[in-house]
Amino acid sequence: MRKKIIVQKYGGSSVANVIRIKAVAERIVSYKNKNTNVAVVVSAMADTTDDLETLAFQIAKNPPDREMDLLLSTGEQISCALLAMAVRERGAEVIALTGFQAGVKTDNTYTKARVQSISGERIKKAFKENKIVIMAGYQGITENNDITTLGRGGSDLSAVALAKAIDADVCEIYTDVKGIYTTDPRLVPEAQKLTQITFDEMLEMASLGAQVMQARSIEVAKRFNIPLHVRSSYSKEEGTMIVKNMDKIEDIAVRGVTSNKNEAKITICAVPDQPGISAIIFNAIAKAGVNVDVIVQNVSHTKKTDISFTVPKPDLAKALKAAEDVAKKIHAGDVLHDKNIARVSIVGSGMRSHQGIAARMFDALAKAKVNIEMIATSEISISCIIALEKADLAVKTVHKAFDLQKAK
Ligand code: ADP
Ligand code: ASP
Ligand code: MG
Repeated sequence: MRKKIIVQKYGGSSVANVIRIKAVAERIVSYKNKNTNVAVVVSAMADTTDDLETLAFQIAKNPPDREMDLLLSTGEQISCALLAMAVRERGAEVIALTGFQAGVKTDNTYTKARVQSISGERIKKAFKENKIVIMAGYQGITENNDITTLGRGGSDLSAVALAKAIDADVCEIYTDVKGIYTTDPRLVPEAQKLTQITFDEMLEMASLGAQVMQARSIEVAKRFNIPLHVRSSYSKEEGTMIVKNMDKIEDIAVRGVTSNKNEAKITICAVPDQPGISAIIFNAIAKAGVNVDVIVQNVSHTKKTDISFTVPKPDLAKALKAAEDVAKKIHAGDVLHDKNIARVSIVGSGMRSHQGIAARMFDALAKAKVNIEMIATSEISISCIIALEKADLAVKTVHKAFDLQKAK
């Protein structure tokens, strides 16, 4: 008989200290029995990755990506070894593996490498020997044997890719909240835990700022239809299932609210209103290696128009330099920027079939005296760019406007 295979991923807060590592080990051992194999993916303890990054920036203004990955990947190696020791102390057979040892192959885009394959051979061998496997998350190796990392939050991706590689029956993501909520429960205490959410909705929420799951991991889960169970490492309570389709017959218009405080706005003033000008501007920004997001261009009445767009905050300096250079070239006016912005978004697949959703969001923001600077929509989301200091108020206001405190 084929044994059941469970993949469990424990995030940094779940293994933050020795007490938590022991508690997680206890839980892992409780899942292993003669009919079930368990493979665990673990993140670095608490703020280890941030601390390592800070160290690097104390040494170098621009640390090389390859060495950065070598450094950042060590956090997971520590938690992986310690967790395996704790499991062993509880009498279970166990093996700790780095991403490299587990055969996680990636391309060579350091700091955000893409997983190409996981051989799974070593893990299958360990299962045959009746061992629990603890694999370091967030890391892989290139064909030239260079160590890579998978982007922040990348242990989620390691878990999903591993679940696919070893054909797991269950993929559980353990974290410090009880599941996916209507919004960040640390910000809005009225936020409700959802029983289910679709891959599309979760992908949109993650991309728009809900840090609970890494967006790329959801892309992979969606592609291979791997249902994910997001739950707390502090309790046995059921969490949230991330699935392809919901059990509910009708889509709900709005399922969640997110905020993203990691963007900045650039405005190029008095841009000549001629064919080809936008192409020149955004080619220049792309050449600088910056991803542009919300773009707003007003209709011109004077043959000149302002163009505003947002970029990730860490890329602001690069983007500004490119924008200033291109503004001169096309004889545009001043280039302005604003770091103090935030994006507040609503997400829900039912938006496609419900009317008045945008109006309700804008109404709620107006009543709370929050000025909307830019608007962007997708098929299942609406985002407003607003002042940074109003972000938390806006999330609370919009959450209430859609009665999400009553959501399930
Ligand atoms: P881990 O260390 O387990 O990877 P993260 O810190 O990456 O955990 O993600 C969990 C955190 O995500 C929670 O503590 C919570 O504050 C935050 N969060 C943001 N939005 C949501 C949401 N919609 N539902 C649940 N948690 C959210
Ligand atoms: N330790 C990495 C990070 O902090 C990966 C992860 O936790 O998923 O981003
Ligand atoms: Mg995380």
